[in-house]
Amino acid sequence: MSDRQATWQGASIAPQQTRAIGCAVGRVVERGDVLAVEGPLGAGKTLLVGGVAEGMGLDPRQVTSPTYVIVQEYGPAQPGFCPILVHVDAYRVHTLEELESIGWGEGELFGGDAVVAVEWADRLGEELGGQSLRIELAHSGERHRELTLRCDGGAWLKRWSALCRGLEEAVMEPGTCPICKGKAWRGLPPYPFCSKRCRLIDLGRWLGEDYRISRPIETSDLEEE
Ligand SMILES: [Zn+2]
Repeated sequence: MSDRQATWQGASIAPQQTRAIGCAVGRVVERGDVLAVEGPLGAGKTLLVGGVAEGMGLDPRQVTSPTYVIVQEYGPAQPGFCPILVHVDAYRVHTLEELESIGWGEGELFGGDAVVAVEWADRLGEELGGQSLRIELAHSGERHRELTLRCDGGAWLKRWSALCRGLEEAVMEPGTCPICKGKAWRGLPPYPFCSKRCRLIDLGRWLGEDYRISRPIETSDLEEE
C-alpha cells in the first residue's frame, strides 16, 4: 500500500495561480501533514506556503520567508479552530539533527498536531516522516512555473481526487471581475471577484442605498491586490 504513488503536474502562469495552488492544498490538509516544498530561489515557494495558510483559513499576511528564523508558526485567531501551520526553511539546515539542535526535534515537528511546510526540504537529504506531500516548483519562463505534486500513498491518496479538483481549478484561465473587469483568479477566496475590495463594492450595490455595510471598510480589506 505504501508503494502506491500519485502525481499531479500543472503549470502556473502567474504568482496568483501559484498562490491558488497553495490554497487548494491548504483546503485539504490534515493535522500531521508534512509539505516538502522544493525549487530554486524565486520559484515561489513562500508564495505557495502563503496560499496554504489562506486555504487553511489562516491569515496569509503572517507568512513571510522564514530565512532568518528557520522556523515560524502561524496559528488561527481562535485557538483550535484549525491546525497550526509550522513553516520551516531548511536552506541553512542540512540535517534533521541540526533542526533538533535549535529546539525542533523530529518528534515535535513531524507526526504531531501541526501541519508542517518545509522549504528546501531536499536539503535535509532524507525522507521526511509523517504524511508527506512533495511539491516541486521549477521555472519555465519569467512568470511561468511548472509544479509537480507527489504523494507516496497512505493518508494523501484518500484525499487525492479532492486535491486534484482544487488544483485543476487553480490553473484554469482567470475570470473577469464583474466590478473592475480585472483578472479574477480561480481558487482564491475573493473569486469571482479580483479582491476583497471588489467583493465589498458588489455587496454594497446589492444591498442598495437603504442598507449599509455593517462595519466600516478596514485597511486590511484594501490591502489585497
Ligand atoms: Zn475587481
